[in-house]
Amino acid sequence: MASITRTPTRPPVSTPTEPASDESPNSGPGFSTLSVHAGEARQKPGDAVTDAIFCASTYTFPSTQSIIDFIEEEHEREEYGRYGNPGERVAERKLATLEGAESALLFASGMAAFVGLLMAKLNTGDEVIFFDECYHRSREFCFKHLARFGVKTLQVTTGDYAAMEAAITPRTRMLISESPTNPHLSCIDLERFAELGRKHEVETLIDATLATPYNLRPINAGIDYVLHSATKYLAGHNDLLAGVVCGSKEQLEPVRNLRGIMGGINSPQNAYLLLRGLKTFELRMQRHNANGLAVARFLEQHPRIEKVYYPGLESHDYHDMAKRYMRGYGGLVTFCVKDADWRATADVIDAVRIPRIAPSLGGVETLIEQPLVMSYYKQTPEDRARFGISDNMIRLACGIEDAADLIADLEQALAQ
Ligand SMILES: *Cc1c(COP(=O)(O)O)cnc(C)c1O
Repeated sequence: MASITRTPTRPPVSTPTEPASDESPNSGPGFSTLSVHAGEARQKPGDAVTDAIFCASTYTFPSTQSIIDFIEEEHEREEYGRYGNPGERVAERKLATLEGAESALLFASGMAAFVGLLMAKLNTGDEVIFFDECYHRSREFCFKHLARFGVKTLQVTTGDYAAMEAAITPRTRMLISESPTNPHLSCIDLERFAELGRKHEVETLIDATLATPYNLRPINAGIDYVLHSATKYLAGHNDLLAGVVCGSKEQLEPVRNLRGIMGGINSPQNAYLLLRGLKTFELRMQRHNANGLAVARFLEQHPRIEKVYYPGLESHDYHDMAKRYMRGYGGLVTFCVKDADWRATADVIDAVRIPRIAPSLGGVETLIEQPLVMSYYKQTPEDRARFGISDNMIRLACGIEDAADLIADLEQALAQ
């Protein structure tokens, strides 16, 4: 049914400003061709070029015998909206192809995907180990909620593979990290991480939301599960929530089953918007990558800036690791304003004209926020220090506007 599918190879490493419709030769269609066509039927309902939005909560059978055939022969068709819908299946095939994974499973949000995966995989007495720089809600789910079911969460310093190995016990079931991490943009040695899992027979999960399959392919490095908040770059327009887990069909089967019970599936309308966003995925990522790098370079030489976190900068602690695994470095830039308390930092944010003040990232509109205020306001100074969130830190999620305009805007905001 799908007209174009293939397993993409690891993206070639290049500077993010280079045009990157450059899949290695002899390996089938390029990334943008796949973004447009992969997972889609060549001829669609109504002879339309686009996939239809089927507004249906349930799907009809022509006869009792056809229900029995469906149950006995397990052929692919819809049954009831909580188990799947046609647009969502197209999106899953497209995302699996882009990720180089056998299978993908779409959820109503990134967190629904994270919770769904862990709930399907973990039992009382099991343990999970995290690299500590990660989305605070993922951490909260593990420490506050998995704990209620007798699952133990351990946290080790990001990039400390020896500490992670030392924390592994016979009860460990999953090793978890983001790459790059948020907001410090630390990058994981994916092969080493995967090897740690293989050696101890523990599954590995990478949340690669900040990288996307355009910039990073953890499956090719041997990682079991790749998770994305598709709300961000994959959908790309700040207009929907979605999440996806990619992996092998077999490993995802229990997760798919639990999703059908939990009901955390995405709507046909959102699946369509996600598919629409994915058509321009490569074009958008090229611009996000170029804008991120241009803004990071501008900030790095600015006298009012104390530090810039961006994996594409030679000064970044993880630049070599990023270069090894990533095609581009994304649109997220984190920086600290020199000699500024939290209020002076907020003044910079309040002075910008193009970026909108909001959480999230990965959409066409540039967004700006102060992690201290947006995500860590109610935490103690000790906790903020532990997670490396300083009062003078700003997180800028570059959209696809013109880099020159973003830079001029930051220049005037920093001049005030
Ligand atoms: C946003 C985000 C999530 C959560 O995704 P939602 O779609 O908001 O539920 C998880 N991980 C990372 C890295 C994110 O940026």
